[in-house]
Amino acid sequence: MADGGRKTNIAEGDVDMEFETSKGVKVVSSFDAMGLREQLLRGIYQFGFEKPSAIQQRAVLPITQGRDVIAQAQSGTGKTSLIAITLCQMLDTTLREVQALVLSPTRELATQTEKNILAIGDHMAVQAHACIGGKSVGDDIRKLENGVHIVSGTPGRVFDMIKRRSLRTRNIKTLVLDEADEMLNKGFKEQIYDIYRYLPPETQVVLVSATLPHEVLEMTHKFMTDPVRILVKRDELTLEGIKQFFVAVEREEWKFDTLCDLYDTLTITQAVIFCNTKRKVDWLTEKMRQNNFTVSAMHGDMPQKEREAIMDEFRKGATRVLITTDVWARGLDVQQVSLVINYDLPNSRELYIHRIGRSGRFGRKGVAINFVKNDDIKILRDIEQFYSTQIDEMPMNVADLI
Ligand code: ADP
Ligand code: MG
Repeated sequence: MADGGRKTNIAEGDVDMEFETSKGVKVVSSFDAMGLREQLLRGIYQFGFEKPSAIQQRAVLPITQGRDVIAQAQSGTGKTSLIAITLCQMLDTTLREVQALVLSPTRELATQTEKNILAIGDHMAVQAHACIGGKSVGDDIRKLENGVHIVSGTPGRVFDMIKRRSLRTRNIKTLVLDEADEMLNKGFKEQIYDIYRYLPPETQVVLVSATLPHEVLEMTHKFMTDPVRILVKRDELTLEGIKQFFVAVEREEWKFDTLCDLYDTLTITQAVIFCNTKRKVDWLTEKMRQNNFTVSAMHGDMPQKEREAIMDEFRKGATRVLITTDVWARGLDVQQVSLVINYDLPNSRELYIHRIGRSGRFGRKGVAINFVKNDDIKILRDIEQFYSTQIDEMPMNVADLI
C-alpha cells in the first residue's frame, strides 16, 4: 500500500454511487466472489484493499470476461486500481510476451500504474514495464527483450517501441486508455490511432475516466464492439467529501498575498497549487521562495530526472506544497493531499473535476479553493451549475475542514 496507512472504515463505501449501467451489469460486493486467482487475491489484500469500490464491484467482471468496457467513476474511487486488478487476472504468466497495453496521458501516471500493477501482481510474478518519454530508449528495449506481460506507457514512447519492433503487439489482448477522454482529445487522438492500427483486430478495449463528455462517448463505436457502459450522471460527479470554495480577488496581484496568507493551511497535510502555464509555475515558485516559503514545483519542461525526484519527495511527504500545471491534474494519487488551490481557474469543466480530485482520495476529506478575479466568477458559476454542486465563499475557519 502506497502510504502504509489504513484503508479500512473510510467513507468510499458509503458514498451514494449512482451509476447508469448497461443491462446485465452485476454488482459483486467482495473480491472473493469475483472468481479471481488465488495469488492475485493475496496481492490485493496484501496491498491493503479489503472490499472492492463501487466501480470495481461493477466493472471487474465484464472486463475479465473480455468485454469492451467504458468505466466512469468519481476521482479517487479505484479506477486505475481496477485496471491493475483486471489485467493481472487476465494474464497468462507462462507467456513472456506483452499481453496488455495501458496508455496514460502523463509519464507520472504511467509510472504510477506500472507500480500499482507490480504491487497487486506481486504474488503472480507479473512483469510490468513503464514505457515513457524522457527515459533511456536502450533500457526500454532491453526490458522488452527480457519479456514483459504488461506495458504501461505514454503514447509517443510506446509507438516508438512498436515501430522498432521491440514491443511486439501480436499477443496483445487488451488495450486500456486511462483518462480516456484526454487520450481521445485532439492532442493524443492521432497517436492513439497509430498504435491501435498495430494491435490485433480482436483486441479488447477498455476506457476509464472520471469525465467522459458526449463527444467522446459518441466516437467510441469506431473502435469498440458493443461496449458495457458504467457511467455516472454528471450531477453525481463531484464528491461530497471535497468541499469547494472561492476567494474573490479584484486583481491578479492579490492572488499572491492570498496564497501567502494561506500558507499555514497548505502545510497542514499536503497541497497542490495549479497554474495554467509552466511560466507561471516558475514565476510563482520563485516569488514564494523569495518570500521565504518552502515550495516545490513541477512541470513538463523539466528534465525527466528532476520530475522524478520531485515526485518522489512529494510522495514521501518530504515536500508539502507543490506548484504545478495540468500535468498533475489527472490520475496522480498522493493520499495525503487534502488541499487543492486553483491559482488560475482551469480551462475546462473536465479539468476542474480532475484537479480537485487530487484531494479526497478514496473517501478522504478534501478542500478545493479557487482564486477568482472579477470575470472568473462567471466561469465558476458555470462549473457549479454544470455539476449541480456548491462552491461557497471561503470561510475564515477553512483550516478546520482539512
Ligand atoms: P482513480 O483512478 O479512480 O482516481 P485510484 O485507482 O487511483 O482511483 O485509487 C485511489 C486510491 O484508493 C489509491 O490510493 C488506491 O490505492 C486506493 N484504492 C483503490 N481501490 C481500493 C479498494 N478497493 N480498497 C481500498 N483502497 C483502494
Ligand atoms: Mg485513475
